[in-house]
Amino acid sequence: MNHPIARRAASLSPSLTLAIDSKAKAMKAAGEDVVGFGAGEPDFDTPEHIKKAAADALAAGFTKYTPSSGIPELRQAIADKLKRENGLTYKPSQVIVSCGGKHSCFNVILATCQEGDEVLIPSPYWLSYPEMVKLAGATPVVLETTDRTEFKVTPDQLRAAITPKSRLFVLNSPSNPTGSVYTPEEIKALGDVCIEKGLLIMSDEIYEHLLYDGAVHKSVASFGPEYQEHTVIVHGFAKAWSMTGWRLGFLAAPEPIAKAIDALQSHSTSNPTSFAQKGAVAALTGSQEHLPRWLAEYARRRSYAWQKLNSIPGISCVNSKGAFYLFPNISGTGLKSADFCARLLEQEKVAAVPGVAFGADDYLRISYATSLANIEKGLDRLDKFVRGLKH
Ligand SMILES: *Cc1c(COP(=O)(O)O)cnc(C)c1O
Repeated sequence: MNHPIARRAASLSPSLTLAIDSKAKAMKAAGEDVVGFGAGEPDFDTPEHIKKAAADALAAGFTKYTPSSGIPELRQAIADKLKRENGLTYKPSQVIVSCGGKHSCFNVILATCQEGDEVLIPSPYWLSYPEMVKLAGATPVVLETTDRTEFKVTPDQLRAAITPKSRLFVLNSPSNPTGSVYTPEEIKALGDVCIEKGLLIMSDEIYEHLLYDGAVHKSVASFGPEYQEHTVIVHGFAKAWSMTGWRLGFLAAPEPIAKAIDALQSHSTSNPTSFAQKGAVAALTGSQEHLPRWLAEYARRRSYAWQKLNSIPGISCVNSKGAFYLFPNISGTGLKSADFCARLLEQEKVAAVPGVAFGADDYLRISYATSLANIEKGLDRLDKFVRGLKH
């Protein structure tokens, strides 16, 4: 049979991150000593009290459908978190729990963008944003940045890219893949442009808690009611609580957008997993003592990796201020990113994600969500690989 594949699916680029990851895993399974820098998830286990809350819920029979946008207890706990940590007032009806932060992003884009619309996305970008925009029938417009500006777009750059078709601006700070963090002043200046031009902001704040060297996170929504009115915050439990496999994220939006997403979700996933939501309540209301420990460990790895990368000829790396990624510039090696990563994996058995996947072909993404011993071993091999390149 000539199997039907819709244009919207046929035009999707498969995730290069997952492709590298599966190749590395296959090599590992075949007994090869692969060092993986591809991970987009913490290497720590979910804290015990969170697992216990979900296990208790399961044992107590909390196994049925829940309200589509999440259990009231969790929506309230999220509203409380936004008040406590971000100084933001949201009604629980403006909070929607979804099946992962990725699903929250997809809901926002699907509910607000359509054919003819443009979505402004700074590059290097999280690779799912442009694909989601295309799935919604809209057009991604990429705003290019480099390491010279610490991968940050300027208000002028944003203003110049806005057209009457612009619908949404995607802001992700701290950033995946670069680890870059905008200062509060920079965030506010971008928010001002969006307010001036009537543009909605999708602010992906999933790395909010992973900050280094005194960097601070301030949500664009928190500069005042007008900013909040122009913003949808996307967040989730994957990173700060290491709950990637639980598939739980959330968003906080102006009322009409929340209402549209509630309807959309009720016809697609129905609701996020019942007992996982009980774990998420524990994540927000229980002890946060794991976080300083994780941050200290990430910070140690980041320092080591940053210094080591900069000692390799042909490679330069700005230090990140958040998340768990470094984004070294490899242009001095003479190789483009896909070629670099394919040869690195082949010759030295080190898996890294090529920057081209994030719209930046002169870079690699190195995740330090892996042990310091792995980082040392992997970067020694990367060093050897680069020094052995024939020019
Ligand atoms: C990890 C991540 C998410 C959400 O991941 P989920 O596992 O779907 O919760 C969203 N945005 C960025 C930039 C991420 O790196």
